[in-house]
Amino acid sequence: MHSVLMVWHGILKMMRIFRFIKALIKYIFIGSQVEQREYDLRLEICSNCKDRCGKKCCICGCYLSKKAQWSTESCPKNKW
Ligand code: SF4
Repeated sequence: MHSVLMVWHGILKMMRIFRFIKALIKYIFIGSQVEQREYDLRLEICSNCKDRCGKKCCICGCYLSKKAQWSTESCPKNKW
C-alpha cells in the first residue's frame, strides 16, 4: 500500500511539473505580465479563496505569485 501511495504522489508531482512547463511555454510565446491593478485583484481573490494552500492554488498546484502575474493564466474555478 505504501509503495502505491508513493507512485501516486510521484504521478501527481509529474503532472504538476508538466502543467507548469506547459503554462511557462504558453506565457513565453503568447503571454505578457498583467497590469499591477489586475495582479493585485487576482491575488486578493486568491487570498480569500478556500482552495488556496499557502502560496499555491490547491486545484492546479501553481504558485499564485506567478500564476496571477501571467496574462495567459486563469483561475481553474473561473474566479478571475
Ligand atoms: S486560482 Fe482560483 S481556485 Fe486557485 S486559489 Fe486562486 S481563486 Fe482559488
